[in-house]
Amino acid sequence: MTGGIRSLPDLLSHALAIETEAVERYTMLADQMEVHNNTELTAIFRKLAHIEGLHAKEIEERAAGLDMPDLKPWEYEWGGGESPEASDPTEAHYLMTPYHALKMALAAEQRAFAFFNDLIGKVEDGEVRKLAEEFADEEREHVSLVEELLERYPEPAADWDDDPDPPALQE
Ligand code: ZN
Repeated sequence: MTGGIRSLPDLLSHALAIETEAVERYTMLADQMEVHNNTELTAIFRKLAHIEGLHAKEIEERAAGLDMPDLKPWEYEWGGGESPEASDPTEAHYLMTPYHALKMALAAEQRAFAFFNDLIGKVEDGEVRKLAEEFADEEREHVSLVEELLERYPEPAADWDDDPDPPALQE
């Protein structure tokens, strides 16, 4: 899946796409938790959006002056146009609980980690491999952060989405 990434610009363009999508995801999750009046997770997701945004900016700075590939969505190595950190926004319907929000975040961070970790064993170029290691470390930290949060927000009862009073039926 990552066989086409050989150069620094290849890696940076993929990392930038991952971070940019992460910012969008965490912003969406923060908005969602705000609707649920969960101030703790709203703040955490906003902070994560900020951190991923800083990473994106760092990557842009590293990429400045490099001959960056102008990739179309389908030309990225993950195929299908969706980066490993992307998630389906339709999953975030109005009943999403903190547990579900965190599960979505966890899945995305794990995919991002797997993406960079997979690269480490594949790239020949030492500089590219070093950067892939750096990115994998960062994503590993995100994974454990979300895992810690999940311990505080366990899975809700199986009937969590049985809304006794769905908005569409209110008269
Ligand atoms: Zn991340």
